[in-house]
Amino acid sequence: MNDYVMPDPVVQVTGAQELARDLVVVPDRRVPLVPNIGLIGGTHSVLVVETGIGPENAETVLEFAAEFAGGRKMYLTTTHFHPEHAFGAQVFAGEATFLINRAQAEDLRAKGPGYLGMFRGLDEVIARRLEGVRLVTPDLVYDDEYDLDLGGRVVRLRATGRAHSKGDQIVTVPDSGVMFTGDLVEAGQFAIFPWFPPHDTDVSGTRWLAVMERLAAQSPQVVVPGHGDVGGPQLLADVRDYLRLLRDETWTRRDSAMSEETIAEEVKALMIARHPEWEGRDWIEKGVGCLCSEHAS
Ligand SMILES: [Zn+2]
Repeated sequence: MNDYVMPDPVVQVTGAQELARDLVVVPDRRVPLVPNIGLIGGTHSVLVVETGIGPENAETVLEFAAEFAGGRKMYLTTTHFHPEHAFGAQVFAGEATFLINRAQAEDLRAKGPGYLGMFRGLDEVIARRLEGVRLVTPDLVYDDEYDLDLGGRVVRLRATGRAHSKGDQIVTVPDSGVMFTGDLVEAGQFAIFPWFPPHDTDVSGTRWLAVMERLAAQSPQVVVPGHGDVGGPQLLADVRDYLRLLRDETWTRRDSAMSEETIAEEVKALMIARHPEWEGRDWIEKGVGCLCSEHAS
């Protein structure tokens, strides 16, 4: 039996931090399945990034956003379709324009219902948060890139291509050097590989690494990870280096025809020794599984 008690993934707006002028993050407080949520304002519009898990959390976010907006037009975007990031979008209908990249919209349509079922099965406290969730169709869909003009401030929405999910999206605010990465980056935690064969095998370690190499080269001043504390560009470098090492250590062992089980054991021990303070250790072997499948044998 597992005695771990899952904390209620409730969004609390009281600790909101102002990262730049008219740019606020509602931090996750290190609670699992609470994402970092962003509010970015321009002269005539406001963009909300992420909803929190379920309608009740999204109500909290919407109320906070409406106050922040003070009558300005509202937009909502989500970094990818996973439940704590996007499964509250229904609450914003009629209040905000829901805008995402096409691959994410497709993930939401094709995989949303399966994830709803899977997450409801995780724990009672999660199931309660997911009561009444309806998966909605975005109002506006773009292919690869979209520049959203909020009035005196342009926000860049960029689809990265398949990495942590099929439909990851990065949100950057060039005038203040802020980048919202979603789950492409976590702080203080091993990279989350949603590798659940045969149900979900969309995550790609090699593509993810390529995305991180690209993002790290952009060196934004402030990085807002999907989960964990807001940091600087080092967060991007950390994930890039971790993914590179995970790939190399996995593939070297694969080359010597070691079993996946032994590889996972050895690589996990190695990674924990390297990052003893990081949480989410179970994600290491998922990452090994994913990278084994991407090894050219
Ligand atoms: Zn995710």
